[in-house]
Amino acid sequence: MHVYLKLLCLLVCLLCAGCDEESSVDLAMPQTVGDAIIFGSIDSGIDLDGALDQTSQMVRTDKVIDGQRVSINNGLGQVSFMVPSNALSITVIIWGMDDGWYGIDGWQDETGYALVPSGWPALEGNEAGCYRCNNFATQSAGVSTTIAPNRPGALINAGRHVVDIVGWVDGFAADEARVSVLIKQGPIWPATGTIDLNMYFTGAQGWTADSVQADPYFAACIDRVIDLYGRAGIRLGEIAYHDIDSEFATVSIEAGDDSLGRLVGQSVAEPHHGANVFFVDEILTGEIDFPSIPGVAAAVPSPPLLPGTVASGVAVATKGPLSVPPGNRFLDPPAIGQTIAHELGHALGLVHTSEYDGVTHDLFDDTLDDDNRYLMHADGTGAEISAQQIRALMANPVISHP
Ligand SMILES: [Zn+2]
Repeated sequence: MHVYLKLLCLLVCLLCAGCDEESSVDLAMPQTVGDAIIFGSIDSGIDLDGALDQTSQMVRTDKVIDGQRVSINNGLGQVSFMVPSNALSITVIIWGMDDGWYGIDGWQDETGYALVPSGWPALEGNEAGCYRCNNFATQSAGVSTTIAPNRPGALINAGRHVVDIVGWVDGFAADEARVSVLIKQGPIWPATGTIDLNMYFTGAQGWTADSVQADPYFAACIDRVIDLYGRAGIRLGEIAYHDIDSEFATVSIEAGDDSLGRLVGQSVAEPHHGANVFFVDEILTGEIDFPSIPGVAAAVPSPPLLPGTVASGVAVATKGPLSVPPGNRFLDPPAIGQTIAHELGHALGLVHTSEYDGVTHDLFDDTLDDDNRYLMHADGTGAEISAQQIRALMANPVISHP
């Protein structure tokens, strides 16, 4: 399938284009959600149920910094936080104005180990993100999310961590940025997890929050997602259904078009804080070769537990690419389920195992290059999820371990 071609490039172009926009849309300014978010049960180790999977039950996520306002001076600011000895993963979310540029400039722990070396964007080989880092990092328009560990060898050491952050708006240093830090902790890595989904309907395909729950085509799509993630030990939990305005039924990721950000900005806080999936008619690209694509993630990853931002979700097209004859569109609903699963992979932090260019690959050493049997290959048709990819998924706070 040709449709995911250059998706990453398109995403990068989109994000970069956002920096140059004059608009200052405050309507979708991110909202912080809750205070400490506790998943699962820790209960001082008392296990009343005698559950088989006690390890999983003792994995939880704490929000150690919750939307803190950090002053930016000359484009740079800093936060620090303590990491407990049983930390499994750390998620750092930095955000601000929709048209601002935010992210990590450096990240060091108290042993001197650099998850991300200071000033990484200037280092050779980091043009498309911090490939020369112990832990991959990017900077992005509106919102930047980094989850560690996200590649083999990235260490999570206990003690004080210091993160240098950048914030720019319209080419000038931002006044401030917002920062949240979430730490998932437990005795050992969980082998299983649960993801809740928040689904949003624009009226595309005639689907509404009510009607879709009785739609056999939609059920087939969800079954496909259950099948694919079940292979990774991740089950679907609660699904919340929302109707949103039909003005969002068509979005474009063409440079300078902010409709995807406005779409995913419609996400709202849910009790279960799942990943946000938006169903639209079409996702236009402005490209002649592939004018319409089946799915797109507004960011890789989406900011976990932070709805309402320009990065807070993925879009899935129900109509299919324009290259498909109208009579053939939507004849294979599980294919839409495949797209949901692939885009969820992006939302949870996975990049393509391989792009079509034959030279751009992910940073996992257990995914074969140029092999479309992987769910996260650029063509999006595969089913395989590697052990290291599963570890990266389990690191995400959106995956809970009840
Ligand atoms: Zn993709």
